[in-house]
Amino acid sequence: MELPYTLTRPLLARVAENRRLTAPGNPSDVRHVVLEFARDALAFQEGQAVGVPPPGLNQRGRPHPPRLFSVASARDGEYGDGQSLALTVKRFFGQDPATGAAIPGLASNFLCDCAVGDQVRLTGPLGDLLRIPDDEPGPLLLFATGTGVAPMRGLLQRRARSAAARQFAAALLHGAPTADDLAYSQEFEQQARGDSGLAYLTARSREQTDNAGQRLYVGQLALNHRDQLAPLLAHPALQVLVCGVRGMEEGVERAIAAIGGEDRLARLRAEGRWRVEVY
Ligand SMILES: Cc1cc2nc3c(=O)[nH]c(=O)nc-3n(C[C@H](O)[C@H](O)[C@H](O)COP(=O)(O)OP(=O)(O)OC[C@H]3O[C@@H](n4cnc5c(N)ncnc54)[C@H](O)[C@@H]3O)c2cc1C
Repeated sequence: MELPYTLTRPLLARVAENRRLTAPGNPSDVRHVVLEFARDALAFQEGQAVGVPPPGLNQRGRPHPPRLFSVASARDGEYGDGQSLALTVKRFFGQDPATGAAIPGLASNFLCDCAVGDQVRLTGPLGDLLRIPDDEPGPLLLFATGTGVAPMRGLLQRRARSAAARQFAAALLHGAPTADDLAYSQEFEQQARGDSGLAYLTARSREQTDNAGQRLYVGQLALNHRDQLAPLLAHPALQVLVCGVRGMEEGVERAIAAIGGEDRLARLRAEGRWRVEVY
């Protein structure tokens, strides 16, 4: 049953897994956190997010508002059981403007520190920016950086499980500073090996440079593979999804315009098949 959960009436979930995705020496601590809940208690689609209110109260004695985390699983759940979902959580620190001291972000640190069996409250599901309506199937051109890979993993998990979702080609262009920061890369590589319609391409900005000696980002990666991506881009039903670090969309826009032409980019936007979520 579909229920919009709220801060005053959240869904109670239980932590089933908390696995670090980045190596122990990597300063970026990114986790794969799986939550379980009552069967069919939460109906979500790939591309949507859930809210996680941090525990405790703010300085005014009020509950903290929920922070958004993209669901990293297909709609039938992380375990395909209709009662689980995965989140890809980066441990976030801000900085005290006066002292420069690191201030741990409330929700991300809560999730990164949670143990199997702990209870987590969820709100939502929400977010339609990256949700592709079921009656608009088409090839997928996916660009992800950082935890923006979470919704793409959900889409590719569905693709792996559903023959209907494999009727069109898909490409994931995945960017990160280093190979270790490419969350789920082994899973995607394995999936692409068994799925001839799926291309998985990576850009490691601190380890790879383009022809001009500049750091390699996903926009340039697309240009490097323009011959491979051009047929995908020409498909009238194409869906383009961009998710991750704010600012990444600019390089992606330039690449799409260079490969498919400015008109193509304008048409994708006008037809609502250009979906960007950056944060
Ligand atoms: C659509 C969407 C999807 C997202 N998906 C993901 C995802 O899949 N994975 C993911 O990891 N993140 C995701 N995010 C980001 C996530 O929502 C949070 O913004 C992020 O995790 C930080 O939240 P936090 O509660 O840890 O930090 P917060 O507690 O919200 O802290 C944020 C800022 O406030 C400052 N601050 C906090 N407390 C104090 C204080 N007492 N004094 C001064 N400054 C303070 C912190 O230093 C920091 O700069 C997404 C965001 C959006 C909008």
